[in-house]
Amino acid sequence: MENIKKIISPVWKFTQDIVFPPICVNCKTDIKDQSKFLCQSCFDEIQTLSALYCPECGARLANSESSCHRSDYVLAPASKFFPPIPALIHNFKYQELVKISDILSAMLIVCLKNSNIKIDDFIITQIPLYPKKIRKRGFNQSEILAKSVANYFSLPHKHLLKRTKDNDQQAKQKDYGKRFENIKNCFQSLNAEDIAGKKIILVDDVSTSGATLAEASRILKKYGAVKIIALVVAKA
Ligand SMILES: [Zn+2]
Ligand SMILES: [Zn+2]
Repeated sequence: MENIKKIISPVWKFTQDIVFPPICVNCKTDIKDQSKFLCQSCFDEIQTLSALYCPECGARLANSESSCHRSDYVLAPASKFFPPIPALIHNFKYQELVKISDILSAMLIVCLKNSNIKIDDFIITQIPLYPKKIRKRGFNQSEILAKSVANYFSLPHKHLLKRTKDNDQQAKQKDYGKRFENIKNCFQSLNAEDIAGKKIILVDDVSTSGATLAEASRILKKYGAVKIIALVVAKA
């Protein structure tokens, strides 16, 4: 006897393969297991970093306490923006490939572990998305990463900021000066009491100009954050 399931599953499987063929998201070669997202050689290309950097000049810092320039945060990038990282981050924006977060959060965890920064008194948050964008996309990719890092280290995850302006042009804006101008006053604190006196790990996917991290850190500092480490998958 036929049933709907029997009929529909090959069709469904077929559609899935069309939309999301089991291929490496980076080099597009066939892979056996779609849940891995990368072929072995692309996976092996991932190089993790474990140092802290000055966001102003890009200099490597000896530790999280010292910085060459005055800045509201220090930058901890898990890698550079080299293949296969751009492909992973790009595809992570689609709901169907949300489990790419497994690779990206593992990179963030490795970065923190290898950096030897003492983080047991930190709380973890993320760069928020504009609410309309969350509705459209279904999730905030940075929040997924922040939560899995918090979960791994048994640290509290908090929503500290909200986005009050949709600066969609940010990603397309090539002029760094304009990026800093665009992002001004984009964030507000959700609950000032959660921020005051806290050490904060601020998670985002990529740091390009650093404008978004700088503005978010400015607000967190304004409400009394004592230390901010911006943890990103990659710095461009
Ligand atoms: Zn590949
Ligand atoms: Zn510097």
